[in-house]
Amino acid sequence: MELRLYDTLTKEKRIFAPLDAENVRMYVCGPTVYDFAHIGNARPVIVFDVLFRLLRHLNGEAHVKYVRNITDVDDKINDRAARDFPGLPLNEAIRKVTEQTGKQFHADVDALGALRPSVEPRATEHIAEMREIIERLIKGGFAYAAEDHVLFSPQAMNTANSSLPRYGALSKRSLDEMIAGARVDVAPYKRDATDFVLWKPSKPGEPSWPSPAGIKAEGRPGWHIECSAMAWKHLGEHFDIHGGGIDLVFPHHENEVAQTCCAFHRERMANYWMHNGFLQVESEKMSKSLGNFVTIHELLADWPGEVLRLNMLKTHYRSPIDWTMKSLEESAKTLDDWYRVAADVAPGEPAASVVEPLLDDLNTPLAIAALHGLRGGDVGALAGSLRLLGFFSESAAQWEGRKQQASGVDAKEVERLIAERTAARSRKDFRESDRIRDLLAAMGVAIKDSKDGTTWEFSR
Ligand code: AMP
Ligand code: ZN
Repeated sequence: MELRLYDTLTKEKRIFAPLDAENVRMYVCGPTVYDFAHIGNARPVIVFDVLFRLLRHLNGEAHVKYVRNITDVDDKINDRAARDFPGLPLNEAIRKVTEQTGKQFHADVDALGALRPSVEPRATEHIAEMREIIERLIKGGFAYAAEDHVLFSPQAMNTANSSLPRYGALSKRSLDEMIAGARVDVAPYKRDATDFVLWKPSKPGEPSWPSPAGIKAEGRPGWHIECSAMAWKHLGEHFDIHGGGIDLVFPHHENEVAQTCCAFHRERMANYWMHNGFLQVESEKMSKSLGNFVTIHELLADWPGEVLRLNMLKTHYRSPIDWTMKSLEESAKTLDDWYRVAADVAPGEPAASVVEPLLDDLNTPLAIAALHGLRGGDVGALAGSLRLLGFFSESAAQWEGRKQQASGVDAKEVERLIAERTAARSRKDFRESDRIRDLLAAMGVAIKDSKDGTTWEFSR
């Protein structure tokens, strides 16, 4: 069976044929580093990590290049830096914010079992490439300078007599409708309402670099040009897969396509555009004002990263996902069970019943159903399949030990209480034995009596 992927541009699942099987290339938009990543941000990280692992499985580890950028220049970063470090010069404060947030992001996504991408470029280290693309766009008549800004003209793109894609093709929007629907208060330096910023002037104290297009004042890049530049530098003018959350289709990805295709006279930037659906929490949109905004960091205090990972993969990546406590509890139980039966078993080849659904546009819910099927039979294949999906980073003992630590309950103390309860039962002091059982329950420990004695586990 061949890998088939759904492409947002053509709206169909197609057989995935890499441009170069020796060098399969994927770009995914990464975080803007100004704050803790929330659980919605974890979705593209986990989904494209599964795809990365699958591509490595199919093509060989050395033949897949995965680039996920870090956006380290942005107004939100500047605002956060000024707020958190008012005593420092802005540039130093910005460095502190991006360094701390970047470190936190790595700690979070490592805990989710995500492999580091092959390259993690930073926007501020690719200013030369951004300037180069901007100069090319101006030369080709697709961009112009005005009042220290450089703007891209979608109108120029769509009236060019060439084999370029149409602006709006990816997001299925017509440029005419965008013009008609444009706001009235368009910035005065824009020729058309739909023109977007490639480069803008910096305010005093803000990060700034020498500008392209002969502009004297120093400036900084717009967001969209960053990804065109980093993808070009590390993957070339045309590559296989470009991914991100569904909210990025417009304007971010539409603008990336426009910039890259017009700068390099290409029909395409990426052959497959893949977008994950949105995550909501307990049936509501996640937002700070609703009080249901959860960071990966907070969740990791209560749950092992692999539980979050499994919980994410139970839903197909293109469907919306409802993140609930109930589902998390179920995911934790499932993983506890898998760890118990298979984590210490020598892993076999991943099962065909797991790999095949993955080949069908990453059908992880079906792959997980197949894992349940293996549970009672081929546990070697269960172990191998779970490893392919990024689970089982620990031994069964480590898993159990960390869970006990996390629950704050001392296993020795539990054993002592169980022995006391057994003694109470044998002298028929059922009041005392019930008291100890309730005490254990309050500690989150469930006990089970059988003719061989009493066993226990954390019930959360
Ligand atoms: P941002 O930092 O907002 O640019 O988001 C980083 C990545 O997370 C992008 O790929 C977004 O599409 C994705 N993302 C943000 N919020 C959510 C959400 N609630 N559900 C799924 N993906 C999201
Ligand atoms: Zn991007």
